[in-house]
Amino acid sequence: MEKALMLFSGGQDSTTCLAWALDRYAQVETVGFDYGQRHRVELDCRAPVRAALAARWPGRLGADHLIDLRPGMAALGETAMTAEVAISMGAEGLPNTFVPGRNLLFLTYAAALAYRRGVRRIVAGMCETDFSGYPDCRDDTVKAMQVALNLGMQRRYVLETPLMWLDKAATWAMADSLGVLEIIVRDTHTCYLGERGVLHAWGYGCGTCPACELRAAGFERFQEAR
Ligand SMILES: [Zn+2]
Repeated sequence: MEKALMLFSGGQDSTTCLAWALDRYAQVETVGFDYGQRHRVELDCRAPVRAALAARWPGRLGADHLIDLRPGMAALGETAMTAEVAISMGAEGLPNTFVPGRNLLFLTYAAALAYRRGVRRIVAGMCETDFSGYPDCRDDTVKAMQVALNLGMQRRYVLETPLMWLDKAATWAMADSLGVLEIIVRDTHTCYLGERGVLHAWGYGCGTCPACELRAAGFERFQEAR
């Protein structure tokens, strides 16, 4: 049994991965990033989610770290993920919710933190199956980052992405098998618009943004397959 550091946003995917890591490792620390995301409400979900998961796996959840990237990300310019502009598809086939370099920055900060905390395993929720076309979620990107971080920090980090080849229905099934389905529905946040007014069967959200559509459709397929 080892220690792990989890990139934990408070959303569905990273919460499912955190449960996966808690089930597997003796001690799991979490790191979150404030980058001025419109759905900053997801950061508020981190504490209740951590409390619920700590009760499910007593003694395993370690320290939480929140890194403020707001000034740096703001200096790099606005995207639909960080500003009040309509979500649309850009010229290069990427939605304007794409924040260039976001996951590369997150992994670099996480590895630097892991260095200081003496942790070898870094767990993250990237997924290339039904993602929005974000190139920094791809398996090749994560594997290349593992090589770069190990060379640059002279470490043997293992970057683990348990959701990489799962679709959203399978992610829901994983949460169910780990006994955290209720926690995912009630406590996590996915909606890009930060909507938390109505609790649907699949959780809170506007129901119409790309993130809500993916989450709701995945839940429906998971329910059908049950
Ligand atoms: Zn939404």
